[in-house]
Amino acid sequence: MSTITQPFTSVYGPVQSWRFGRSLGIDPIGAVSTCSFNCVYCQLGEIQHQRCNRQVFIPTQTIQQDLQAFLVCPANTITLSGSGEPTLAQNLGEILAMAKAMTMKPIGVLTNGSLLSDRSVREELAIAEWVAVKMDAISADSFRRINRPMPTLKLQDIWAGLLQFRQIYAGHLAIQTMLLTPWSDRDQAEYIHQMQVLRPDEIQLNTPTRPRSLTHQLIARGNHPPDACPYPTQPLKPVKADVLQQLGDRIESVMGIPVRYPLLKQEREQW
Ligand code: SF4
Repeated sequence: MSTITQPFTSVYGPVQSWRFGRSLGIDPIGAVSTCSFNCVYCQLGEIQHQRCNRQVFIPTQTIQQDLQAFLVCPANTITLSGSGEPTLAQNLGEILAMAKAMTMKPIGVLTNGSLLSDRSVREELAIAEWVAVKMDAISADSFRRINRPMPTLKLQDIWAGLLQFRQIYAGHLAIQTMLLTPWSDRDQAEYIHQMQVLRPDEIQLNTPTRPRSLTHQLIARGNHPPDACPYPTQPLKPVKADVLQQLGDRIESVMGIPVRYPLLKQEREQW
């Protein structure tokens, strides 16, 4: 398998995203992809290091130095995601505070929510102006199949942590849901019920729009054209646009909150 050799930098982009506009990325994880999940559609390829415990991967000072070089870049927002699950970074709160003070731009975090049962993670995440939490499954079985989490992670614990986070969080909370196949009427109803309990500000419905890398590639953190990946990939089949639209219409009619979708064409986006 070939890998595109790229030196690691903790700041990258800007990336054009259908969800967040022009965004500068901060990667607090590092060159080795590290996550508590190993999602079947992950753009990073097979996760190289699966873990649930936190550590400092990249010192905040290093990120601060890397960010300095990007301050002139036009961007609407700063996004923490990168090479895995950003809440695994023990210096998450420090990074958010530093980037906010340095850039004066809204800062957001893309997270799988797996560490939300940890109070310090909830409190650190609350510094961000927006947080987008992944929620692809409503049953333990589909959670295991789609997200392939560490065996110690339980869907009900993640859900409980998410509810606790909602209680303290005053920023913009989005739920991101990836559809790999159309959902049954019953699954849709259950999902909407859960969203009514949680009360997010927005729901983002997604489906795989670009092939999955087979090996970890730093370039996969940002923009690249799906039909011209310079490394081996596995094609993923998106659901049709009307499948997303039908679920989105149902959510909007019941909940009255915005639902956003990718354009189902070969577009460039982040994560
Ligand atoms: S898609 Fe996100 S949560 Fe899933 S394995 Fe990749 S980095 Fe982790």
